[in-house]
Amino acid sequence: VSGQLAAPGKVLATLNEDGSRNWIRPRLAAGRFLNLRRGIGYGLIVLFVALPFVRIGGHPAIHLSIMERRFHLFGGSFLPTDSVLLMLLLLVIFLSIFWLTALVGRVWCGYGCPQTVYMELLFRPLERLFEGPAPAQRALDNQTGFKPRRVAKNVVFFVIAFGLANVFLAYFVSTNQLGVWITEPPWRHPVGFSVVAITTGLIFFDFAYFREQMCTVVCPYARLQSVLLDRNSLVVGYDPLRGETRKKLKSRKEADGSGDCIDCKACVNVCPTGIDIRDGLQLECISCAQCVDACDTIMTRVGRPKGLIRYASQEALTQIGGKTRLLRPRVVLYPMIIATLAVTLIVLLQRMQDFDVTVLRGLGGPFVALDAGQIQNHLRVKIQNRSTQEQRFAIRVAGVDPAQVVIPQNPLHVPADQSVTMPVFVTLPQGDFSDGRKTINLEVAPKGESDSDKTRALTYELLGPKAGSP
Ligand code: SF4
Ligand code: SF4
Repeated sequence: VSGQLAAPGKVLATLNEDGSRNWIRPRLAAGRFLNLRRGIGYGLIVLFVALPFVRIGGHPAIHLSIMERRFHLFGGSFLPTDSVLLMLLLLVIFLSIFWLTALVGRVWCGYGCPQTVYMELLFRPLERLFEGPAPAQRALDNQTGFKPRRVAKNVVFFVIAFGLANVFLAYFVSTNQLGVWITEPPWRHPVGFSVVAITTGLIFFDFAYFREQMCTVVCPYARLQSVLLDRNSLVVGYDPLRGETRKKLKSRKEADGSGDCIDCKACVNVCPTGIDIRDGLQLECISCAQCVDACDTIMTRVGRPKGLIRYASQEALTQIGGKTRLLRPRVVLYPMIIATLAVTLIVLLQRMQDFDVTVLRGLGGPFVALDAGQIQNHLRVKIQNRSTQEQRFAIRVAGVDPAQVVIPQNPLHVPADQSVTMPVFVTLPQGDFSDGRKTINLEVAPKGESDSDKTRALTYELLGPKAGSP
């Protein structure tokens, strides 16, 4: 490319200057942080696979059923009417991530994000198994013609992507439904088959082709780093005060002012996003600490202390005697807000009952004037049973003679996890209405518990003719 379109040097680690893809083929650096990531990452993989299959209170531990508009979370059943709870939960999660980021940088990306965990702990190890270490992979990149090892690797990738797609969908579709989609012929469930096929294709595309670009180009969290981090946040950083002036071992002379960095590029060669951490903190850094493990090994080999690249704040790394300030306004404010929201959420959850009642006005006219000056209102009482057991509910209109109330089924049977709407007819003398209105109290209680604090009381306004109207 020439003229105006020429890029001013390398723009992205994954792009060559001519715009072609630079495939990142990182070496693997053994070390304490890799061991830590493996421990956490494999534990998370087991958890991710298990959660939709583990049953709590008769439901999967996590089941976000969009079709049924119902979420099951660790034994709790949530409906669209619980959007306040959901919003509070999401706020607590997001603010906790913000807080974590302010304290320890992108530790989520390096240790907990499914993209990193699967890419670095499942797909890349398999790639090394099939194609060999990074130099062998690069040699394969340059090879033309049929590449049986790469084909075999991609077949295995596809099978794993299929497995992951099913696990992923199990969070949204019941495992029984998923079993039907998988085991029955595609033409009997074209929608289900398409969902599984598209999800498999996307996962395969991500891990086989797109890879680290998900973190460096797509992920919005990466873009928020500049506002979430400050100079006292813990990040993976290179110590330029100690490392510079970098110089290769063979070109060093006694007291030539060279620093501890021997410019071996081990830190660059292991980086899964292809960056050089010695250039300073970059958006692409996912805080995986592979460069820390690699540089620690080199430092040990050349007889220098470990930690030339380490977890430290920018404040500590870039100033002589620089110290990390742990107590900062955002580090104190985030947990205060999180605690307030969490307490509100817990209180609301504790007050939540295992049934909901909604009273709706009946269809048609607001009331019917019967003979002998009687006014009849038609109400619809909707009871949502949130529990995993069938429940019976007694409906009562307080302070009104039962003979004036007609409820076709009372007590009302509501199956587990279902809702039932029952018509209620209340007939009162016209004289009971004041200016065309009469307030009544409706009480709904699980059968046999009418005296308990489980009784739900709702006020409802009956309508009638206004004084003077025909
Ligand atoms: S691994 Fe360490 S010594 Fe080698 S280039 Fe990176 S910072 Fe310098
Ligand atoms: S710079 Fe280091 S910590 Fe950041 S992504 Fe690369 S290897 Fe991981």
